[in-house]
Amino acid sequence: MPTNLVPPAPIRMLDLATQHAPLQPALDDALRTVLQEAEFINGPAVAAFAQELSAYLGGPHVIPCANGTDALQLALMSLNLPPDAEIILPAFTYVATAEAAAVLGLRPVFVDVLPTTFCLDPAAVEAAITPRTGAILAVHLFGQCADLEALKQIATRRAIPLIEDNAQAIGATYRFADGQQTYAGTVGEVGTTSFFPAKNLGAFGDGGAIFTHDAARATYLRQLANHGQTRKYHHQHIGLNSRLDTLQAALLRVKLPHLPTWTAARQRIADYFDAALGGISGLCIPYRDPQSSHVFHQYTLTLEKAPQRDQVQEYLRAHGVPSMVYYPVPVHLQPAYAYLGYPAGQFPVAEQLCDTVLSLPIHPMLSEAQLHYITSTVRAFFNLTRSLA
Ligand SMILES: *Cc1c(COP(=O)(O)O)cnc(C)c1O
Repeated sequence: MPTNLVPPAPIRMLDLATQHAPLQPALDDALRTVLQEAEFINGPAVAAFAQELSAYLGGPHVIPCANGTDALQLALMSLNLPPDAEIILPAFTYVATAEAAAVLGLRPVFVDVLPTTFCLDPAAVEAAITPRTGAILAVHLFGQCADLEALKQIATRRAIPLIEDNAQAIGATYRFADGQQTYAGTVGEVGTTSFFPAKNLGAFGDGGAIFTHDAARATYLRQLANHGQTRKYHHQHIGLNSRLDTLQAALLRVKLPHLPTWTAARQRIADYFDAALGGISGLCIPYRDPQSSHVFHQYTLTLEKAPQRDQVQEYLRAHGVPSMVYYPVPVHLQPAYAYLGYPAGQFPVAEQLCDTVLSLPIHPMLSEAQLHYITSTVRAFFNLTRSLA
């Protein structure tokens, strides 16, 4: 009986303090420079960070902004859609994806996701297209790309812009059937990301960015994010006040060079989990799409049913292993989106996932002993339930 299990060191979903500790001198320097230079808005670190992130992502224009939700809103604003335009997006995502469309008065049109990748089902996207469709908004959920091959094809064939919500998959790559390999967020007309502290590249507060290969759109997006101004006090467009603080940019510049190492650490942990948890009946390890790399923003298991998922989570909690349910309610069933009139049962995969997913800790600072403890505890739950059956 594993009731005497005790973690080797406290396990957290996220351990930013430990992750930042070796960077402390560099972070202190960056902070001091910003305070001394006192250019807190659009200071030199903002352009420098944008340039460095662009180089990392293979050269798109990078427009920094205040957060990942604004990035989505600005991306949609840059399309200049009519007020009744429909935005096709997944029912299983963080609410911000739908919120960005809804707050602009655009109509979120939800579609179901694939049970494998948890991302947009291309056939469902195709079926949801109408003459009012303004954009397809794909989410690269948990760190793996949506089916960009099919989505790009549909978007091109139907002449509908593709937007990528890449808040969770920065650094993921996608290989098209023709051999071309690109970074997530740089395939569609516009891509967005978030530097929310818990994301794979997190700031020390809010932050976000937009990617595009189109120079004219990049200029327009830069203006939109800065009160629609073309030069100071000359406002060509109705925009937003959505800028990345100089302070956040300076600190992100310290973190960006470490992203590949942190991503590799997440991937090693995922491999460890796969090896230790694969083949347990009633438990599914994350699917890996052969066309996409996976940067494991989350390592998400699927259980058979809701009661069992909750039992596993409670068992883990009781033994010192935190876990999270991303997400417990699909967006179409959130009260705020009831006005769209989607009934329960409309998107069975998304709804089933909300009842059965469970994400384990996967931050890069987990030790081998902690990984062993996490997987032993999950295995203990299943041995226990089997021996009682
Ligand atoms: C975090 C996140 C956002 C929003 O980013 P913020 O910076 O928190 O505004 C949008 N979409 C997805 C999928 C996210 O995970």
